Amino acid sequence: MKDVTQSDFFREQAFVDGEWIAADSGASFDVLDPATRERIGRVPDLGRAETERAIDAAAAALPAWRAKLAGERAAILREWNRLILEAADDLAAIMTAEQGKPLFEARGEIVYAASFVEWFAEEARRIEGEIIPTPAADRRLLVLRQAVGVCAAITPWNFPAAMITRKVAPALAAGCTVVVKPAEQTPLSALALAVLAERAGFPKGVFNVVTGDAPTIGGVLTASPVVRKLSFTGSTEVGRLLMEQCAPTLKKLSMELGGNAPFIVFDDADLDQAVKGAISSKFRNTGQTCVCANRLYVQAGVYDEFAHRLAEAVGKLRIGAGFEDGVHIGPLIDDAAVEKVESHVSDALAHGARAILGGARHARGGTFFEPTVLTGVTPAMRVAREETFGPVAPLFRFESEEEVLRMANDTEYGLAAYFFTRDVGRVFRVAEALEFGIVSANTGVFSSAVFPFGGIKQSGFGREGARAGIEEYLEMKSLCIGGV
Ligand code: ADP
Repeated sequence: MKDVTQSDFFREQAFVDGEWIAADSGASFDVLDPATRERIGRVPDLGRAETERAIDAAAAALPAWRAKLAGERAAILREWNRLILEAADDLAAIMTAEQGKPLFEARGEIVYAASFVEWFAEEARRIEGEIIPTPAADRRLLVLRQAVGVCAAITPWNFPAAMITRKVAPALAAGCTVVVKPAEQTPLSALALAVLAERAGFPKGVFNVVTGDAPTIGGVLTASPVVRKLSFTGSTEVGRLLMEQCAPTLKKLSMELGGNAPFIVFDDADLDQAVKGAISSKFRNTGQTCVCANRLYVQAGVYDEFAHRLAEAVGKLRIGAGFEDGVHIGPLIDDAAVEKVESHVSDALAHGARAILGGARHARGGTFFEPTVLTGVTPAMRVAREETFGPVAPLFRFESEEEVLRMANDTEYGLAAYFFTRDVGRVFRVAEALEFGIVSANTGVFSSAVFPFGGIKQSGFGREGARAGIEEYLEMKSLCIGGV
């Protein structure tokens, strides 16, 4: 493990009202390297009182922050972007240490995280109102678009930096102030971003990071009448709970929840492209992304050939700790994750699937799992219904377009879907028929700050990135002026 504790951006304190703080109780919790289980650091285990202080700080900072000129907010965001990119190597190392992903992927995520800051720095100056043609000569009708107010963000461990910037950057650009609660597994990346936010010149209280017990902090954030909006990325189960907790105060919500992405390969697909797409969609971040291909449907005519080529390509992926050279697949985040992956694979094997590659925990032990390709998978198996969140590619066979669309849509989730075909008519038909918020044809990678990201059905609602991303942090005010 690289010694990230020497980095300038390594902090073991939370960031509230412009101060680096410990818990009132003095309690803290360990942050572990998932590859080695070694302790990297300890961060404060904040409770109710500190969370309330963070909300108060964000409320106190709000009037001055939202009154700033859009160009002034944009300038600070641009500086944050510049500092993040300048610190990319250190930030990537901190991320790899606490999250486990290969260093090149961590660096990629930092650049991706910064791209949201850059994009929303630009969008800050394009928050425009409207003038509506009046129905009465002595009146004028206008629409103002104003910051929602104090916002809370609860973020997951799989993208410890990007999931923060794509919520916080649009919020700050819009004139909101924010309290972030990062995942307990990956608070160090969040705190490193806070170091750079402080240096970029955000006034105190505008951006706060609270670390600690999720239900306690989440309980305070959701119950507070001062917090006007919650943006959450995480499991559907916790999303439902938070939505319920937000009901009494009727908060605005953005929910980016679980997925169960289908990945469809038609007979006429370019198989090289499809294999490449499957590798990036399925195995990136060791299969731990909410848009990872979860169910791979392959048409009968190319099933055997695709299975063979995929297994060959996956067999070349190198497994190891994120800091080792040339590694593609890191450890899973924790024991619960590896147990779930193992149970999905053993359920599939028990019901007649075959592992043509992998299929078990990796010889390295810990939370390493062998990249796995399963054939003969059927809709009755757990891999068809639940998000595996690991490096397992289950291959289902199908005959017709109609059949595969039925199977692909047969899920309560609706985040991302992928398909491969060279038939342009089918590209439109299938894209229109898939019930998912994001559809990707002939590529396994679509994420970008300029492209709306979000789900439908029980994958949630709201969009991040793109123009739509800042709308989530703006409220319309209809202004009627009479006596003109
Ligand atoms: P995952 O399965 O990816 O860990 P979770 O939904 O459990 O997904 O976690 C996503 C985020 O939600 C994390 O920051 C986690 O700490 C937080 N979280 C989990 N449970 C709660 C809760 N009861 N209240 C508030 N936040 C929670």
